[in-house]
Amino acid sequence: MIVGALALAAGGAAALYGALEQNNSLFGPVTGRGPRDRRLYLTFDDGPNGETTPLILETLARHEVPATFFMVGAHARRFPDVARAVAAGGHSIGNHTETHIKLHLRGPMRIAHELSAGHASIAATTGIEPRVFRAPHGYRNPFVMREARRRNYDVFGWTLGVWDTDRPGAETIRRRVRAGLQPGAILLLHDGDGYDPEGDRLQTAEALPGIIADVRSAGYTLAPLSQLCVA
Ligand SMILES: [Zn+2]
Repeated sequence: MIVGALALAAGGAAALYGALEQNNSLFGPVTGRGPRDRRLYLTFDDGPNGETTPLILETLARHEVPATFFMVGAHARRFPDVARAVAAGGHSIGNHTETHIKLHLRGPMRIAHELSAGHASIAATTGIEPRVFRAPHGYRNPFVMREARRRNYDVFGWTLGVWDTDRPGAETIRRRVRAGLQPGAILLLHDGDGYDPEGDRLQTAEALPGIIADVRSAGYTLAPLSQLCVA
């Protein structure tokens, strides 16, 4: 009895970890980092955002840095010109669902809808069919992974998040990234707010030139996330 209860508790803990830890592959393959070499991968979630995304695009263009934008479908429809500008900048575009709901407690129908509506919104506004997916907050369940597989998506987590969404100040965002740099890291920043399309992410845009300078002076290069795709 006790052994059974313990096994159940352990199984529950593993399932919870599989659902909530962004790089856990319990329910299916997730890429949370690259090979441990000098390449790093810059990713932006929760956009597009009318104010922040254009500033970020300008910085990326100025420094010739590739990035991947995991867009919220509803935001792409709200800011179609900005979504198009991301594509025109040559960046990769990923699906981050239609409405940024937490997926881990949702059933197969809602999950299928979130992924397919997000895909359609992004494709309609940018002209690009997303090939990569990242779950809001990294929260997943077996239905999420099944739907991603059905769509032939590569699923990504991340190595280094710095809570730029808390808006701790541009210098703090920059310092946290610098402190966390490590070989092969996938960096997570935010050009938008998953829930509020008008959300303020200007500190992230302000931090970006310094982040790029720090990455380069530490001997790293910023590479496209597509180099890690397997599907
Ligand atoms: Zn998000």
